[in-house]
Amino acid sequence: MYRTYLVIISILCYISCTTNNTKTSFKLEKKTEDSINRIINDMTIAEKVGQTCQITLDAVLSKDTLGKLIEPHQIDQKKLKEAILEYNIGSFLNVSNHTFSLEKWHKIIDEIQKTALKTDHKVPIIYGVDAIHGANYIKNSTLFPQEIGLAATWDTSHARIMGEITAYETRASGVPWNFSPVLDLGRTPIWSRFFETLGEDVYLAKTMGKSIVNGYQGNGMINKYHVAACLKHYVGYSFPLSGRDRTPALIPQRTMEEYYLPPFKESIDAGALTVMINSGEVNGIPGHANKYLLTDILKDKWGFAGFAVSDWEDFINLHKVAQTDSTLKDAICTAINAGVDMSMVPNNPEYKGYCKLLIELVKEGRVSEDRLDDAVRRILRVKNYLGLLKQFKTPTISDYPKFGSEEHRYAAYDIASESITLLKNKNNILPLSTKNSIVIIGPTANSLNCLNGAWTHTWQGIDASYNNNFPTIKDVIEKRFRKVHYFEGSKMIMQDGDEKDIMSTDIHNAVEIAKSTDVAIVCLGELPSTERPGDIYKLDLPVEQQLIVKELNKTGIPIILVLIEGRPKIIREIEPLSDAIVQAYLPGDQGAISIVDVLCGDVNPSGKLPYTYPRYNGVIMHYDHKQSELINGNTWKNDFYNPQWDFGFGLSYTSFKYSNISISSDNISEDNNLLVSVDVTNTGNLKGKEVVQLYIRDHYSSISPSLKKLKRFIKIELDPLEKRTVEFNIDINDLKFYGKENEWIVEEGKFSVMINNLSKDFNFKR
Ligand code: BGC
Repeated sequence: MYRTYLVIISILCYISCTTNNTKTSFKLEKKTEDSINRIINDMTIAEKVGQTCQITLDAVLSKDTLGKLIEPHQIDQKKLKEAILEYNIGSFLNVSNHTFSLEKWHKIIDEIQKTALKTDHKVPIIYGVDAIHGANYIKNSTLFPQEIGLAATWDTSHARIMGEITAYETRASGVPWNFSPVLDLGRTPIWSRFFETLGEDVYLAKTMGKSIVNGYQGNGMINKYHVAACLKHYVGYSFPLSGRDRTPALIPQRTMEEYYLPPFKESIDAGALTVMINSGEVNGIPGHANKYLLTDILKDKWGFAGFAVSDWEDFINLHKVAQTDSTLKDAICTAINAGVDMSMVPNNPEYKGYCKLLIELVKEGRVSEDRLDDAVRRILRVKNYLGLLKQFKTPTISDYPKFGSEEHRYAAYDIASESITLLKNKNNILPLSTKNSIVIIGPTANSLNCLNGAWTHTWQGIDASYNNNFPTIKDVIEKRFRKVHYFEGSKMIMQDGDEKDIMSTDIHNAVEIAKSTDVAIVCLGELPSTERPGDIYKLDLPVEQQLIVKELNKTGIPIILVLIEGRPKIIREIEPLSDAIVQAYLPGDQGAISIVDVLCGDVNPSGKLPYTYPRYNGVIMHYDHKQSELINGNTWKNDFYNPQWDFGFGLSYTSFKYSNISISSDNISEDNNLLVSVDVTNTGNLKGKEVVQLYIRDHYSSISPSLKKLKRFIKIELDPLEKRTVEFNIDINDLKFYGKENEWIVEEGKFSVMINNLSKDFNFKR
């Protein structure tokens, strides 16, 4: 299944809203609802079905006689007219197989929308794209760290700013809908899309996720600089038992309620306009067939008033892959009746089959016209929110003067810099003096693609032909240090579904040269990849990459290990051989400058791990484990939880001291919140940022409790010797869990609040 993505659409105006009486995720205005209903009443069944159909740009592009896309891409007018005027298609997605310039986007959007305006109801197309770390399918756009890096900043204002800039630049192309953020929890690091998540913790993911959504959607005030968010992949997609993409997940209801649903709920409450459905299955039920999750929870219980789009080919997949429906027609019937509103069919001629079959299903009464109207109403609401129903105008470049600007680039640099997480700094070897002579080596040292990861100019992000002109780590190191020698060390290759690296011949030379230099900077990690092509067999960093460190270690030269990786690779054997370790995740186009600024001390690192870094391939534990998981059958001590690094860990070039934790009362009740305060002092002589993390422990509960759970955090900046009192407010909602009766409850008893190395006990009494 080839892809590439993107593109267009338009426009202005946000719709101001007043409330009606129904509780919905965003406000509905009666006047607007009435006018949408009038459009629907005037539509034929075929026109309504068309609104629910989404096709990929490829479906209307010109191809040569062998079926290959013609470059440069151009729209085949016959195919476009057929799709829009004959089949009434309401939505497009994707760029074809590579990124486009703004001008190209404008041309494509213009052609598509002008055709849509020739339809009877003149309803424009809603165009969606995966702009998941900046407008990554537009040339010269601003590229941010991938979500896993964003999460490592532990700063919600960064999440909002990244959302705002991404929305601005995406909208500049004419595209008003972004398939982002991913709100799946990253609790299975071997899963190929781990880097697209906000990490393992539910509270971190839900707060950062909501801030991204607020950035995308202008805090509910959508105008021509914003896009509709699309929360994905609802829900449970990220926890496949096998670790491979789109394979079965087993998630008990309690885990679903406590872990996987809350990030979605939080963003739905914040007004997110659309949701994309989990391509996999949970407990045997495919995401696209799960009426309980789609209709009962999302729409009825949470009051979601926007629309749910399928993932790629997933109506077809109900029949072909999940095999829960014996015909395609049954599959369409199941998905629409379960509550999916739009089908990303998305190819040609498959979309024609979808439209024909859904029309038949409605005529036969297997899908009610009410259900079809409901789906169309939801889609038109979102089109209306985006201003599409009011007026259509393809943007011009001058409408978006900040596209790819210095200001936007600086924000991306700032976020990348704050994501970088210092994991080890033996004898304060970092920061380095630029007077040092350096050997820089490793397969990620000279690759902008590795810094960006997948979904960058192309789907898998490997093709370098479309890269923006930004430096690699090697480029920046060469500029900044006195004397620099670069070696590749090893080549990364994905072969037969796994990483099979090859030692480069320059390794011997590198080791020789290293003997006469001051420091080795070793850049390791992985190739960009996502979805099924990113499935791997093991989490171990390839032996060839580890060998680079082992060989250099023999020279006695200090080693700075820089990790460019979307998921934590096992580095247990080379950790003791490295003097400093810097986790840079996938920091984006500005990543090299940020990394080198950290190495040289121009940036004081403040990133914290958004996941538990495993020590062993076979032991994937999370920070919120239970007492039973601690017991070590070899020592009979409670020491089995022994990750390489803990969730929330990250060093700084300065040091912080926590003192004077206090709580406003020893008891909390239904009516009384608890005010928790703690003093944080910068005890070093450098200005620095610290993430103050508050965890709660429930000592005994009828459902066996985790030993701690993150409940609040804040990132603060302190001057040398500055002391700040940080306060948090806790209420009984923070003590609740999903009880035996399948309801959220809180039980009386003892709790602890923990911040850094300090803690206080309190009791809950009704
Ligand atoms: C991915 C989605 C993506 C969609 C559209 C799918 O294969 O799972 O995350 O939004 O394609 O590009």
